[in-house]
Amino acid sequence: MINKLKTEKELLNEVRRLRVEGKTIVTYNGSFDLLHAGHARSLAEARSLGDALIVLLNSDKSVKSYKSSKRPIVSESDRATMLASLASVDYICLFDEINPKRILNEIKPNVHANGADWGRDCLEREVVEKNGGRVHILKWTQGLSTSGLIKKIISAYKTPVVKAVFLDRDGTINDNGAGYVYRKADFKFLPGVITAMKRLSKTDYKIFIATNQSGISRGICTEKDVRLLHRYMVGALKKEGVRVDGVYYCPHHPDRGCECRKPAPGMAFQAVKDFDVSLSGSWMVGDRDVDVLMGREANLKTIKLAGPMDKSSKVAPHYYAKDLREAVGIIVKNV
Ligand SMILES: [Zn+2]
Repeated sequence: MINKLKTEKELLNEVRRLRVEGKTIVTYNGSFDLLHAGHARSLAEARSLGDALIVLLNSDKSVKSYKSSKRPIVSESDRATMLASLASVDYICLFDEINPKRILNEIKPNVHANGADWGRDCLEREVVEKNGGRVHILKWTQGLSTSGLIKKIISAYKTPVVKAVFLDRDGTINDNGAGYVYRKADFKFLPGVITAMKRLSKTDYKIFIATNQSGISRGICTEKDVRLLHRYMVGALKKEGVRVDGVYYCPHHPDRGCECRKPAPGMAFQAVKDFDVSLSGSWMVGDRDVDVLMGREANLKTIKLAGPMDKSSKVAPHYYAKDLREAVGIIVKNV
């Protein structure tokens, strides 16, 4: 790959060669901090004005001197790398001054492109025209600027990102060894679960339970049974100092092909709608393969309890743990 970043001396050699070949040389300058589509469009327009586009890139020192000590966000070498990856850019040269007048006087471009926001009577006009070139004002790319993007980022992250831990119910929180659990009398917390959930309650993670309850559509129990059991479960946990932020369940039969039955990710997507959860910072813990598959599908980190995945599965969990206590230990360590 041709190295587009040139020292001033190397650049002037290139300029001499281009002149001999009768090429039209275009220059454009800027700091190109956080390269965006507005930059890409302006650079493409500038390139279309001639045979070679030279980007005069404000060095870190230069950017600091006229923007603020907080800028640039991206270092000069990284900004140069980004610019070099654009087909419209032929050469890049860093300059330390506050404006590129001195180097423009050396290059003597045929065309110097400038953004409309800087106006027709830009600082560079005199030196460009003195050397027989012209200034071209680029179309104004409205609504796009690095400062605008920074404001948008700050505003988007002003409130903390909501992260969650999704817990499977049967076999993860309670013992379901004897089959469908829908009666209070049959609901037994697995050993260590309450302590583990208490520990999780002290973190910023929202705690959701996501459970398949096809017993409802199979006629084994009613939706009311499941709701009452969940009310009991949440109440019992609350008494122990455990916070549960939501319980999601799928009442559907597997044959229905709904979007909420694990391994489908519907319950996680519902939590996104309800609580603006960021899935990529969140977790799924469960004892069954479908829990891991659902978690993976929803872009969650996954922890599998109760031994390995089925051999036929091509998908693996991020972690294995022997029980919820160990799983919470992993989550807390990964904050
Ligand atoms: Zn469903």
